Amino acid sequence: MANAIQDFDALVIGAGFSGMYMLKSLRDKLGLKVRVYEAGDTVGGTWYWNRYPGARCDSDSYIYCFTFDKQLLQEWEWSERYPEQPEILRYLEHVAARHDLKRDIQFGTRVTGGEYDEKTNLWTVQTDKGDNVTARYVIAAVGTLSDTNLPQFKGLEEFKGKRYHTSKFPHTGVDFTGKRVAVVGTGATAVQAIPEIAQQAKHLTVFQRTANYCVPARNGKVDPDLVKTRKADYDGVVKRVRESFFGQEHYFIPKSVLEVSAEEREREFERMWDAGGFAYWLANYQDMFFDQKANDVCADFIRRKIRATVKDPKVAEKLMPKGHAYGCKRQPLDTNYYETYNKPNVLLVDAATDGGIEEITEKGIRAGGKEYEVDIIVFATGFDAMTGPLTKLNLKGRGGRTLDKEWSEGPRSYLGVSVAGFPNLFTITGPQSPSVLSNMPVSIEQHVDWITDCIDNMRKNGQTAIEATPEAQEQWVKHVNEVVGATLMVKANSWYMGANIPGKPRTFLPYLGPEGVGGYRKKCDEIAAKGYEGFNLG
Ligand SMILES: Cc1cc2nc3c(=O)[nH]c(=O)nc-3n(C[C@H](O)[C@H](O)[C@H](O)COP(=O)(O)OP(=O)(O)OC[C@H]3O[C@@H](n4cnc5c(N)ncnc54)[C@H](O)[C@@H]3O)c2cc1C
Repeated sequence: MANAIQDFDALVIGAGFSGMYMLKSLRDKLGLKVRVYEAGDTVGGTWYWNRYPGARCDSDSYIYCFTFDKQLLQEWEWSERYPEQPEILRYLEHVAARHDLKRDIQFGTRVTGGEYDEKTNLWTVQTDKGDNVTARYVIAAVGTLSDTNLPQFKGLEEFKGKRYHTSKFPHTGVDFTGKRVAVVGTGATAVQAIPEIAQQAKHLTVFQRTANYCVPARNGKVDPDLVKTRKADYDGVVKRVRESFFGQEHYFIPKSVLEVSAEEREREFERMWDAGGFAYWLANYQDMFFDQKANDVCADFIRRKIRATVKDPKVAEKLMPKGHAYGCKRQPLDTNYYETYNKPNVLLVDAATDGGIEEITEKGIRAGGKEYEVDIIVFATGFDAMTGPLTKLNLKGRGGRTLDKEWSEGPRSYLGVSVAGFPNLFTITGPQSPSVLSNMPVSIEQHVDWITDCIDNMRKNGQTAIEATPEAQEQWVKHVNEVVGATLMVKANSWYMGANIPGKPRTFLPYLGPEGVGGYRKKCDEIAAKGYEGFNLG
C-alpha cells in the first residue's frame, strides 16, 4: 500500500479562510506535501467572489479573522466594526503573503472529480485544467456559500440588458448611475446591496418573495479604547468565543421573555437594538427559538420598528415578515435598508401582494401580470448552501458511491467533518456541524486543528485510512435532527432548511447546539481522546 504512486500527502480544495489555514497547518505544522486547488484567481473565497456594492461581513471584525497568528491579531487594524469586502480580501492576501501560502496553491483550477482507491487508500483527483493527481487525504474547504443559486426563471436568456449575480460580481464594479435597476431577493446580501444601489440608480425596483426581519448593524469606527482593551485580552476573547454558543461574544438572557414585565423586556429589547449587529438575534431571551409565543413578542418589537421607519404604511405592510418565526432565517443586518424604501426612486414589488416573478422579458421582469422595464438586473438569490459545493465535487467513495446519491434525502455526516463510505475525506464546516450558525472563522479553525491532529495521529500510528462508521453517522444524524426538531427553526422556509432550492430535500443543514460551538468542540475533542470513537482506522 505504502508503495503506491502518490503525488501529494494532502489535497485541499478551496483557498478561502478554510483552505488557507488548512494548508498552513498541514504544511508548516506537520511538514506534509500539500496542493491546494482554487477555482478563483487568488485567495479569499467568499471575499474574492462577492463584490457587490455594500458587501461586508456581519460578524464583528475583531472576531472575524484568524486567531492562529497571535502577532497578526495585535498588528492588524480593522477600519470599521464590519469591514467591507475589499478590506477583508486585503487581509486574506496579507495572511497569504505573510505565511507564503500561494506557492502551494494552484489558482484558476476547479476540481471536477475524484475516486477513492480501496486497495491503496489513496484519492485520485481531477481538475478542469487536466490535473490527475493522487493523495492520501482530500480536504474539502469548498465553503458553505460558494455554489451560486440562480433560479431558472422563464425567459432568463431573453433579457437584453445586463444581469449579474451578487456572488459573481464583476471585479471592475458596475456603474448604476442613471440606470433603472432591479434587485431580485431580499436576503442578507440584498439588504446590504439595496441601499447602496438605490443611492446610485435612477430607479430601483426590488422584487421580494419573503420579507425578512432586519436588525440594525450600527457599523462605524470602533472606539480606540475598546480596540485596545480587546487586543490586551485577545487570549480571553479567543477562549470566550470558542466556548460560546455561536462563536461570538453573545449570550442568551437566561429567562423567558414571557416571565418578565413589559417594561423590562422593552428596556432589554431597546438595549439590544442599540447595540446592533447580532445582539438582538443571538443575545435575546432564551426561549425565543423554542416557543412561538415568546418568539411573537420578539418579532412584534421588530414589526413596530419597521412601521416607525417606513413612511408609507402600505410599503411598511409589505415589509412585515409573515409566516415564519423571528430568527429562523439568516439574520440580515440593516444599514439604511428600511429607510431606503422612503426614497422616491425605490419601488417594492412583493410576491404576496403584487404577484411573484412570472418571467424575465427582453426589457425587464414580469410579475403579477405587469412588466417592469429595467436596464440592469441584480440577482441576490443566494446559494445552494452547504451541500451544493460538496456534491458538485463528484467524488466517488467506497464502491463508487457519490455524495449526490448518499444525500438524496438530505446530508448524512459524522460530526459534519466526515462521511461514511468516503475514507480520508474531510469536510471543513460541512453539513451537520455548527458551520453557518456560528461566526465561521471560529468553526473553521476548530475543524482545521481537529483534522490536523487526526492526520498527525494517524501518521504516528502508521495508519493510512480513516472512515466514519455508518452506526456513528446514523447516531449523529439522529442527534442533529432531534436537537433542532425542538426549535422553531425547522418550520421556516430558509436556506438552512434547503428550502430555497427546488427539489432539495427539506432537512436542517447545520448543527444547532445544544451547547453551541463550545459544546460541539468538546464533543469532537472527546471523540479524538477516545481514539477517534465512531471511526474505523487502519
Ligand atoms: C456575502 C457573504 C457574507 C458573509 N458574512 C459572514 C459573516 O459576517 N460572518 C461569518 O461568520 N460568515 C460570513 N459569511 C460566510 C463565509 O462564507 C465564511 O465566513 C468564510 O468566508 C468561509 O470560508 P471558506 O474558506 O470555508 O469558504 P469560501 O470562502 O466560500 O471559500 C471556498 C473556496 O472554494 C473554492 N471552490 C469551491 N469548489 C471548488 C472546486 N470544485 N474546485 C476548486 N475550488 C473550489 C471557491 O472558489 C472558494 O473560493 C458570509 C458569506 C457571504 C457569501
